[in-house]
Amino acid sequence: MSERGKRTNLVHGGTKRSQWNEVSEAIFLTQGFVYETAEAAEQRFIKTGEDEYIYARYGNPTVAMFEERMAMLEGAEDGFACASGMAAVNGALTSMLKAGDHVVSARALFGSCNYILDEILSRYGVEVTFVDGAILEEWDAAVRPDTKAVFFESMSNPTLEVIDIEGVAKIAHRVGAKVVVDNVFSTPVYSKAIEQGADLVVYSTTKHVDGQGRCLGGVILGSKEDIRGVVEPYMKHTGGSMSPFNAWVMLKGLETIDLRVRAQTEGATKIAEALKGHDKLSRCIYPGSQDHAQHDLAMRQLGSGGTMLSFVLKEGKEAAFRFLNALEIVIISNNLGDAKSIATHPATTTHQRLTPELRAELGIDDGLVRLSVGIEDPQDLVEDILQALDAV
Ligand SMILES: *Cc1c(COP(=O)(O)O)cnc(C)c1O
Repeated sequence: MSERGKRTNLVHGGTKRSQWNEVSEAIFLTQGFVYETAEAAEQRFIKTGEDEYIYARYGNPTVAMFEERMAMLEGAEDGFACASGMAAVNGALTSMLKAGDHVVSARALFGSCNYILDEILSRYGVEVTFVDGAILEEWDAAVRPDTKAVFFESMSNPTLEVIDIEGVAKIAHRVGAKVVVDNVFSTPVYSKAIEQGADLVVYSTTKHVDGQGRCLGGVILGSKEDIRGVVEPYMKHTGGSMSPFNAWVMLKGLETIDLRVRAQTEGATKIAEALKGHDKLSRCIYPGSQDHAQHDLAMRQLGSGGTMLSFVLKEGKEAAFRFLNALEIVIISNNLGDAKSIATHPATTTHQRLTPELRAELGIDDGLVRLSVGIEDPQDLVEDILQALDAV
């Protein structure tokens, strides 16, 4: 039989059935595991074999199913499931770094990622150089022989700049640095990040993987050597592991992620078309649109424009607030990747912590609205957005 397709793996991949042969994956909501004898316990602590468990912080059958299905989706050898996307970002970086190391990071980062790169790492003696992630020359100038890792969000939040994974990986690998990619906005459906040179791919599974607004989660994907040799020891001893219940929710999310993300992309494409040249907007940013500065790169790297779009209201914050308050279907929140369409005003919420100077540098205008497109009927979303713009 030929290699199975993505959708088949998303439904069946990683499934391990108990003696009851259940259809839906079982939730092993247990902290620990019973050993038949004292000798068996001793043995398991010496060497934990396949399908053997010690403690849920170290591993759990439901969590292992999720890790395997996620690794299959990403084309990675292995994965470690984390309590949240931030536990994954922190774990991917901190597990491999030590005082004296150097890191190069893109400047445009999710607020909490910025906190780890800009505040935490330096506290432990790791030097971080920030660059404009979209400019390969800046990465090239910033890497040094002691650079241990580079970090970036492959599609930046909220300005949807696409960063060239292959280009950055070539530069990083020249000095032996690991490439850590936060791939949330690209989604695991469209990602080919490992093939393109990423060493560790990190997701907040809170977003498209759950996709229905329920649980926090994260995952770190990479080679068996990196995941089991470096990431796992750090994660299992510092407590950032995923709960079995959340892993079960994420497993069910994976079953439908391909269908959802493609429907969300269809909606985003239609909304971007409807907003083209709108007189209340100074910009509409969607990587799937021909006029996006990195449209070709987005198509090469993802083959898609993704599920997110951003636009800037000419009249600034007040206009953005009037628009948000006039929406009838799209809800105001700060999550993304959900089945429900969500509008966010980054300058006053997700990116409020940044200085006005940094916001300006990153293009986070006071009139900018970020839209995470859900799976509602695209026509309803277009009408809702257009009527809310009329209300401005
Ligand atoms: C949401 C998000 C995170 C953090 O994920 P949590 O699950 O909220 O901890 C990290 N990076 C990006 C790009 C995100 O969108």
